[in-house]
Amino acid sequence: MKIFCVGRNYAEHAKELGNAIPEDPVIFMKPKSALLQSHTPFYYPEFSNELHYEAELVLHISKNGRYIQEKQASRYYNKISIGIDFTARDIQTELKKKGLPWEKAKSWDNSAVVGDWVDITPDMLNNPINFSLYNNKKLVQQGKSSDMIFSFDHIVAHISNYFSLNIGDLVFTGTPAGVGECVVGDVLEGFFEKNKMFEVEIK
Ligand code: ZN
Repeated sequence: MKIFCVGRNYAEHAKELGNAIPEDPVIFMKPKSALLQSHTPFYYPEFSNELHYEAELVLHISKNGRYIQEKQASRYYNKISIGIDFTARDIQTELKKKGLPWEKAKSWDNSAVVGDWVDITPDMLNNPINFSLYNNKKLVQQGKSSDMIFSFDHIVAHISNYFSLNIGDLVFTGTPAGVGECVVGDVLEGFFEKNKMFEVEIK
């Protein structure tokens, strides 16, 4: 199982971190060990002093493929959820300054949270999908799939030009504006439309 992530897929978020709007999707990966298993506690990583949440829509790949056409891409994912791409922002800032890879900031154990899955219906893809993240019951991030720079289909097609996609792979599709710091004791809740999909306490 592979976990693909898209960086800078919302203009307002690219701006808030001082990044340019990309011409092609920015892709990075997390290993399987990054996935927080359900009912496992999330512990604040000891190597960071600036842990950020990034709420994102996550796609579940349901068909193996390579060189997928954008027009056909929706046949390759069948479920969607909301997740968190946890980021050690202090480490990422240092790595970015030096032009180094992001793995130590993004791909550590349990840095990927995924909520409950929802089956994708054709109707769902024709309308904007709303999602939100609450920290200690306060709304901190609100996203809409129609604000993405690169669509689900574009992302899936693009990834498949470089990496084979396999059943069970996950695609984190980028975070909207509003990323921020979390501390021990915070409780993060992810909502897909009106439905709560996960709750994570930082321990
Ligand atoms: Zn992210």
